[in-house]
Amino acid sequence: MRKSCPSHGSFEVVLWRGEPSYNSWNRPKNHSSLDSPYSGLDKGCPFDCGLCPDHRQETCTALLEVTFRCDRPCSFCYANSRNFNNPDPDLVTVRGWYEHLSSKKYSCNIQLSGGEPTLRDDLPQIVALGRSIGFRFIQVNTNGLRLAKDPKYVEQLKKAGLSSVFLQFDGPRDKIYEQMGRGISLDNKLAAIENCSQNELGVVIVPTLVRGVNTDDIGNTIKFAIEHINVVRGVHFQPAAFFGRYPWMPSNNDRITLPEIIRSIESQTGGMVHATGFVPPGCENSYCSFHGNFVVMPDGSLHSLSRYNHSDCCSHPIDSHEGASIARKFVGQRWVMPENRVQREENEGLSLGRWDVLLKRSRTHMLCISSMAFQDAWNVELDRLRECCIHVLGSGGRLIPFCAYNLTGINGAVLHGRPMDLNGKDAS
Ligand code: SF4
Ligand code: SF4
Repeated sequence: MRKSCPSHGSFEVVLWRGEPSYNSWNRPKNHSSLDSPYSGLDKGCPFDCGLCPDHRQETCTALLEVTFRCDRPCSFCYANSRNFNNPDPDLVTVRGWYEHLSSKKYSCNIQLSGGEPTLRDDLPQIVALGRSIGFRFIQVNTNGLRLAKDPKYVEQLKKAGLSSVFLQFDGPRDKIYEQMGRGISLDNKLAAIENCSQNELGVVIVPTLVRGVNTDDIGNTIKFAIEHINVVRGVHFQPAAFFGRYPWMPSNNDRITLPEIIRSIESQTGGMVHATGFVPPGCENSYCSFHGNFVVMPDGSLHSLSRYNHSDCCSHPIDSHEGASIARKFVGQRWVMPENRVQREENEGLSLGRWDVLLKRSRTHMLCISSMAFQDAWNVELDRLRECCIHVLGSGGRLIPFCAYNLTGINGAVLHGRPMDLNGKDAS
């Protein structure tokens, strides 16, 4: 993409490298208008969030920033969280957020984020509050340190109704965490996963991919997920984007594009996972993500349930409301633990024919492999922002596409304010 700016001149940035080709990667949508835009049109996209009447997709997942504090010094942090002295929003404010979201015609999924949400002792109460208001899927986005060290807390979260843990997990080698400046060890991650397993909490492991640090660990991360399929429900790769806090100015070489990840998955799993097992999204813009669904077979191999058929995808545009609804259900079903533990254990050592095994294990041993490429000031595209379905609840109850919310200029300036109470008063 080539851009020019009256103040900073012209520049270009790589969006896509290689196969599947940029032009073939397309899941067209029929866009209908939003049921309830929250903001009006004034300065144009991306300043009018949101959602404004020009936005083309409803909310799949709403992020609630329940704290600005963080106890880790990560080199890459989209929220640029630190150990701020800002007080956390109180439970009355959080209740207001939930009620505001539940006033929409459809119920979205919730991700509790921050900052590091597990710094809050009352996080179980926040989860329980959301469940009591009617949200069926509540996930916490965490570095996992408290989950590793405090099994009682994990138990409380589960009892409160937490659905799933979105765990920062950059790979199955200790050195990676040192290179990412995480201040956390692989042992901590393993302990967090074990405590989730003990409490029947599904985990999605989320590697931030940085070239030369963990881009050769993509296959091993998938193998790790397969070995922990009793608790790991998905692997969600996030190629490093350059907003919030990042350690250097990006060059094109730093950029890892979606097709490169797809091809690395294929080559680093020795072809066990084929590139055609990944499809563009039906909810957000095609160039934002990919996903594939797999059944883990008794021998540790993956059987793909999705197959990208380019001609099919192009000839049948999906209705945007339908796409959002499917995505909400998909996350709500695939990223939680299957309810029937007994059946899960029974399905461990099946020795039936492959087809019967596949059918049985598709209910208990599913692994979703996905990736989302966040946008930064260099590669941001308004078409992608307008089709975004991952929204942060921001100032005055506005819903702001995640990439627009976190976007920062090279001087660190943000486009949109941090969350406030619903009257626009700073909750922090
Ligand atoms: S990103 Fe969406 S909500 Fe924000 S200004 Fe653009 S169209 Fe409107
Ligand atoms: S968060 Fe960013 S990358 Fe993800 S769907 Fe929204 S605009 Fe696309």
